[in-house]
Amino acid sequence: MDKRILVNMLLGRHQINLLNSGIAKEAELIYRKNTWFFNLVIEIPEIKTNIKSNIILGVDVGENNIAAISTNTIYGGGKLKHRRDKYLALRCRLQSNGSKSAKQLLKKISGREQRFVKHTNHVVSKNIVENAINVNADKLVMENLTHIRANIKAGKRVRSRLHRWSFRQLQYFVEYKATAYGITVQYVDPAYSSQTCSNCHELGSRKKHIFKCKCGFQAHADYNASQNLAWIGSGNILPMASVNKPNVGCGNLATAP
Ligand SMILES: [Zn+2]
Repeated sequence: MDKRILVNMLLGRHQINLLNSGIAKEAELIYRKNTWFFNLVIEIPEIKTNIKSNIILGVDVGENNIAAISTNTIYGGGKLKHRRDKYLALRCRLQSNGSKSAKQLLKKISGREQRFVKHTNHVVSKNIVENAINVNADKLVMENLTHIRANIKAGKRVRSRLHRWSFRQLQYFVEYKATAYGITVQYVDPAYSSQTCSNCHELGSRKKHIFKCKCGFQAHADYNASQNLAWIGSGNILPMASVNKPNVGCGNLATAP
């Protein structure tokens, strides 16, 4: 505790390759289950390939599914959502309990939950970027999340702080992974992206996961939203968003811890 010590690193081939590919940045020493872990962040210089394909993908991070992208791929839901909700319910119970032991357990659960969300976000973001590379996309379009709370009608449970930082974390992971491959990332105002039909750009209706429009278009609601994001990212304005600027009364918007 009172002075620095030098510790030699014993590296495998994989670690050596990673270290040589970039610049070592921040590091953290973690003690978990009687074992010490050393996490080192390597900053890999951006690959300036500047892909010019004019293929733009929208990435919608959602409440029901972790993400949907406009190649019609939906991530998450199912088991992941179940586990996330389980943590939330447990956390709510412990919070309302308030005893010392509940607080201790809450701390332990929070750490576990954060690691689970972080891991999930890494897996999903890696998948999204791989998908973008596969279709030769040159730009990913995501929602500017400072707007998201005004657009989602949700209960207290859904609006919980955890969700906010987990959304933002997923976007951040997608952003840095995409940028490393020369894919541009753009954040746009998502107003009306979930209510507008991505086929005819009129207002449609959304019931749970299904989006329906008078024009006959019907799709998974998150997929429809991701299509609209790609459309906005291509320089278009959704008709409703141009006439009706929403008054965003966000209130208490917490940022990532
Ligand atoms: Zn339509």
